[in-house]
Amino acid sequence: MSSLRLGIDQAYLKDTFDQLAEIGRDPDGRGYQRLAWTEAEREAHRWFRSKAVQLGFSTWTDHAGNSFADFTGGADPSIPALAIGSHLDTVPYGGAFDGGLGVVAALAAGKAIRESGLTLARPLRLAAFTDEEGPRFGTGLLGSKALAGALDMDLIRNARDSTNISLNSAMATSACDLESLPLVQQSLKRFAGYLELHIEQGPRLERSNTRTGAVTAVTGIRQISVYFHGKTNHAGTTPKPERKNALRAASETIVRFSDWVDQTDNLVANPGKILVHPNAANVVPGEAQIDWDMRSPDSALLDQAYAKLAEYAENAAASMSMQATHQLFHDVPPCPLFSPWIQITEQCAHELDLSITRLVSWAGHDAGVLGLVIPSAMIFVPSRDGISHAPEEFSDDAALVDGTQLLGETALSILLKEGPL
Ligand SMILES: [Zn+2]
Repeated sequence: MSSLRLGIDQAYLKDTFDQLAEIGRDPDGRGYQRLAWTEAEREAHRWFRSKAVQLGFSTWTDHAGNSFADFTGGADPSIPALAIGSHLDTVPYGGAFDGGLGVVAALAAGKAIRESGLTLARPLRLAAFTDEEGPRFGTGLLGSKALAGALDMDLIRNARDSTNISLNSAMATSACDLESLPLVQQSLKRFAGYLELHIEQGPRLERSNTRTGAVTAVTGIRQISVYFHGKTNHAGTTPKPERKNALRAASETIVRFSDWVDQTDNLVANPGKILVHPNAANVVPGEAQIDWDMRSPDSALLDQAYAKLAEYAENAAASMSMQATHQLFHDVPPCPLFSPWIQITEQCAHELDLSITRLVSWAGHDAGVLGLVIPSAMIFVPSRDGISHAPEEFSDDAALVDGTQLLGETALSILLKEGPL
């Protein structure tokens, strides 16, 4: 176990954060536009690699556009490296901290580890993943999924943005080729594990006045379309007992299933999208679709919730003499993080005199993808008012420093450990 060996250069940390915060900033002050496969994301990756080169790291990229920077620290370069980092893309009108903080902190922690002069048992790798957020093509976590060998190539080949640009042509502007993505997995054997610092993106740490969080698991996510098949007819003349209003059955399902979710711990479910046909006030709608997003770190609970949703939908539909059907269209398994590293994180927080609590991540992260194939862990720092994916996203300088110190010490402990992880 390390014991406060690292001196984080706080001026470097702040200055580096401010440099990244200039890239892709909306000129009208509406946050950031570093969407995947845009010039802004590419510029952020070039910036990251040049910063790493300045620190004496050797950089490389893969076929997914992920950027890496290696420092052996006296270790045998053939030994798999510990990667630390996050992503550089943002959602539309996103904040400066989501992803960016983890990459900047990795640079500052990497600088401190290099300057410590300690001989490492395994190499250190700084990592910046591409297309983590996914709103442009619906292909979130693309960079880490490529590395983990978890890509759905059919989905990727058919992906288009709202202006009908294909993912393949967008990737070409970043000198990447969609059909080469499966090659990315070949470098996974060079990774011993992955450690990511991220903002919490929720209010729990701030409300409990806790400075850091050790993430125990990244939530599983299932997205499900539920369809109600009623009968389209005149809104005035159809006798009441004969009305098969699909919107009404959908509404009843939303209310009843949401009530069940409210009674269930360790599970959230959101009805986020509704489509009604023909969507006119004077027509009994014959078709309705609700898209749900349900999340839990417990896959058995997700199974149970999906079955309950189907049951409530079928019951609501049957009570109005219609059918309900459903389809799972997005399925991310829950990812328990690596418990020895959760313990190391907590130990380092105690040594740094930082309060720490264990918590689940209810948002998806690259660590939740990589954690299914290599040991992975995550550290959270508080988000002001729990706001994220918005220009108001903010974590104060103390959170930047706390998070970077804890990232650095935890990484160093792992880097110095001989033998099995
Ligand atoms: Zn993120």
